[in-house]
Amino acid sequence: MKTHVRVLVIGGGVVGVSTLYHLTRKGWTDVALIERTELTAGSTWHAAGLLPLFNMSYTVGQLHKYSVDLYKRLPAETGQDVSFHVTGNLRLATCKERMDEYQKYCGTANTIGVPFEVIGPARVKELWPLIELGGSPDTPAIIGALYHPHDGHIAPADLTMALRKGARSAGAEIYEHTEALGMERTASGEWRVRTSKGDITAEHLVLATGNYARQSGRLLGLNVPAIPVEHQYIVYDESAELKAYRQGGGRELAVLRESDQSYYLREERMGWILGPYESGAPARFAEGVPDWFGRSLFPGDLDRLVPHVEAATRRVPALENCGIKDIVNGPISYSPDGSPLIGPAWGLRNVWLNEAHSFGITAAGGSGWQLAEWIVEGEPGIDMLAVDPRRFGAYTSKRYVVKKNEETYRNVFVIHFPDEERPDARPAKTSPVYALIDAKGAVWGQRYGWERANWFAPPGVERRDRWSFRRSNYFEHVGNEARLMREHVGLIDLTPFTKHEVTGPGAEGWLDGLVANKVPAKIGRLALCHALTRRGGIRSEFTVTKIAEQHYYVVSAGAAERYDSDYLSKSLPGDGSVGLRNITNTRGCFVLAGPKSREVLAQLTDTPLDNASFPWLTAQTIEAGLAVEVYALRVNFVGALGWELHFPIEYAHHLFDALFEAGKPFGLGMVGMRAMESLRLEKSYRMWGSDMTPDYTPFEASLDRFVRMNKAAFIGKEALEKQLAGGVPNRFVTLEVHGVTDADPLGNEPLFDAGGRMIGRATSGYYGHCLRKSLAIGYARAEFAQAGTQLAIEILGERRQATVLRESPYDPDNLDLRA
Ligand SMILES: Cc1cc2nc3c(=O)[nH]c(=O)nc-3n(C[C@H](O)[C@H](O)[C@H](O)COP(=O)(O)OP(=O)(O)OC[C@H]3O[C@@H](n4cnc5c(N)ncnc54)[C@H](O)[C@@H]3O)c2cc1C
Repeated sequence: MKTHVRVLVIGGGVVGVSTLYHLTRKGWTDVALIERTELTAGSTWHAAGLLPLFNMSYTVGQLHKYSVDLYKRLPAETGQDVSFHVTGNLRLATCKERMDEYQKYCGTANTIGVPFEVIGPARVKELWPLIELGGSPDTPAIIGALYHPHDGHIAPADLTMALRKGARSAGAEIYEHTEALGMERTASGEWRVRTSKGDITAEHLVLATGNYARQSGRLLGLNVPAIPVEHQYIVYDESAELKAYRQGGGRELAVLRESDQSYYLREERMGWILGPYESGAPARFAEGVPDWFGRSLFPGDLDRLVPHVEAATRRVPALENCGIKDIVNGPISYSPDGSPLIGPAWGLRNVWLNEAHSFGITAAGGSGWQLAEWIVEGEPGIDMLAVDPRRFGAYTSKRYVVKKNEETYRNVFVIHFPDEERPDARPAKTSPVYALIDAKGAVWGQRYGWERANWFAPPGVERRDRWSFRRSNYFEHVGNEARLMREHVGLIDLTPFTKHEVTGPGAEGWLDGLVANKVPAKIGRLALCHALTRRGGIRSEFTVTKIAEQHYYVVSAGAAERYDSDYLSKSLPGDGSVGLRNITNTRGCFVLAGPKSREVLAQLTDTPLDNASFPWLTAQTIEAGLAVEVYALRVNFVGALGWELHFPIEYAHHLFDALFEAGKPFGLGMVGMRAMESLRLEKSYRMWGSDMTPDYTPFEASLDRFVRMNKAAFIGKEALEKQLAGGVPNRFVTLEVHGVTDADPLGNEPLFDAGGRMIGRATSGYYGHCLRKSLAIGYARAEFAQAGTQLAIEILGERRQATVLRESPYDPDNLDLRA
């Protein structure tokens, strides 16, 4: 066994072996993998082998697409068959909302180039002759389906062996029966792994340990939010009907998913495999996998499956006469949002996770591809925010993960409404004024563990969402909140913002080298600053305020807390000249905005608030009511006169009451997240994570005014220089969408030119309640980005005309902000 390698992968399931394979494809061949027992002995050996291309996530969709393409070429490349049955994949719909979901997905599929067909019942029957189209109360009529002709199922063990062969032929080593027992950092910054067969030192570690993710994380002091849930499928004996159909010349049937009944069905040796995603499946191994669970399974629990078996039998009567051969019940790893954890571990250098795969056979290829890219190149080739392990924070306690993972499992097949807010493990993290906000009729949502008010139900209005892909019950109320902010004054609680304090003699120079804009040099100035990737993409957005000499206050998206904190702390210079403190939980934030905001705030403070004393884009430390040390920033994300008040958290209650008391004569009211979405789109404000991602540079995002190419150096500058020299391929656009009556764009819709060619994608969209226009923002090829250009956008399967508007269609000259 080697004692030193460049990368050591821990875990010999399909995901670990794929990572090893892809490292070798990137030219890193001094790499090894250790597996505690035998390859595939974890969840890989018993997987059903389905490869669904369908995924609502733009990122995960790309990973799955890569996998399916790779698996088709692997046999030729490695000489190892993988039993890829390209049967196609049929997802049924029995209600209009399900068809809406498929149509929404089609937008994403189009933007990433996944081929699909939306088909009607007659074509379903043609593709799947053994199906009942239904039409009775217990077997609803199929109204349509989504068909992927190019995916199917594969033999997971064969796939792993093909990847193994590819990796080994390039020089990678694989050591079975070798368990990682301990990991420690060496003085030179490498990782020494104590294994059951001796020590191996590596520059980089990859954890791909499947059900063992919590245990292996613990060896490094990481609380990895991955806990498996039981998943079962039934293996049926031969089916006479299926046999007759196949012997009559019928081709292998497509993998069938009846989403509205939460099961999948595929052929298996003239019989069937039926896999439900049922309620009541328990999380397992929250404390770690016990020693007795080797290549094992749990006992089958048929009772949980019965409703799905009955539904499937009504849909496919050929199941009725088949005996059950086996029930496979195994652990399937999950994260709280159902997507895997792929990328750097927080707080540790050169430690990488490829964990929490619930569709790991499908995702193995893509996750290995991008993780290898990340390790070798220092960053991934596509936007990986949706799977970055740092999208979760310290709030993922064991109980939280158990509850969320069980919830995610039983919701695999629910309709993924864009405004869905799942209830389990809530409320957990709340602002100190949660109860006060709740008393104002808040309808809550959750992000990064925080409760946030999405909208406010006026007295007498039902306090709940009717989730939909279209305008829904809250539309009118969100509109009223938006107008309140534009015409009077409103308050948004943005306490979840991520907040860092940067201090010390090196603070300014260090921050300046991290971002493309100039960090403010004068006390009381603030600047919007973007940290870029080395490829020039946007990795983070910070509002940087100079509070005092050698003291900066750095604010970023609430959901980016661990992501940004990890990046900032790993970028610190080693000379102690910069102090960095994550102070997210020590300061609250209220946004007070609207034409009357000055009059409201003036009652709480002696600080002059007039334009000359307190101009737009400046900050002051003020007293407000009884609160001291309030950082008042004259900026906001809604494009109105107003202040972000960042206060010591212990004053939250007091300030809230005092503001509402002062605001009474002006009609001050609460404004929720959905109204904020509407307001920010009217101003073309880009949101980190959806409109600003590593896929686009600040030039593509038309954020040129926040980039100082004349600065000495900053991360990403070289890539930007190259892009400027070669031409900026895409440009940010704001679109007015015409003819919308109930389905506004929401992001991930393709954009087309007059000739019907796809030329871009929307990244966000909403109804602009004050402009009374349906709006989308996104990226189009540069030649289509001029104001006045006529484009088309596809929303839920319908093409609508869209006009490129001048940026910031509401108040383009920022007169409100400067008022
Ligand atoms: C019943 C069932 C059906 C499924 N069907 C599908 C499907 O149809 N399609 C699909 O895409 N997915 C399916 N899955 C999910 C799929 O099985 C997993 O997502 C996938 O196998 C995960 O692979 P992995 O490599 O991450 O983990 P694993 O296969 O579990 O591999 C992890 C490996 O790490 C090793 N290991 C752990 N700790 C150490 C250590 N300290 N030192 C050395 N080695 C260690 C383990 O021994 C194990 O071999 C199914 C799962 C179940 C339970």
